[in-house]
Amino acid sequence: MHPGFGKKTVLKVRCRFCQSIVCNRGMKAVLLADTKQELFSTDAPVQMKVGSLGRTYSTNQCQCRICDIACKQCGNVVGYHVEVPCITCLQSCHNGHMWIFNSDAIATEEIVDKSGRNVLKWDQIAASPCEEETESLDSSLDDLTDLECFR
Ligand SMILES: [Zn+2]
Ligand SMILES: [Zn+2]
Repeated sequence: MHPGFGKKTVLKVRCRFCQSIVCNRGMKAVLLADTKQELFSTDAPVQMKVGSLGRTYSTNQCQCRICDIACKQCGNVVGYHVEVPCITCLQSCHNGHMWIFNSDAIATEEIVDKSGRNVLKWDQIAASPCEEETESLDSSLDDLTDLECFR
């Protein structure tokens, strides 16, 4: 994962139709092509809460093979899953998040960390041993505002 993503807020994602929690580790993403559209992504939804609808397809934006995903509790489509990313997307900046939620189908809320004072950030949950040295770069990350490239 790109170190800059660690500063983003971890979001709890709910299905807007039935309020069931479909993801505990969502991240706000912005499509480069249409920055007015809000999307939320994750590397791992709650397994039992969302299911793919089976049929894969491509959009006219790129060659990724994607598949709609639905809330298992109410059956409404809440987003899509990139089953097979295309070469263009693999080579561009991305955060390994292959599950995308549409903002009009879900609601998000911030998660309070253990101290009860701060909202949870991605570097608190996604830390892996080999990325520890990136923490010394924290102060230089704040001005990287164009990290939200996705697809
Ligand atoms: Zn693609
Ligand atoms: Zn639902």
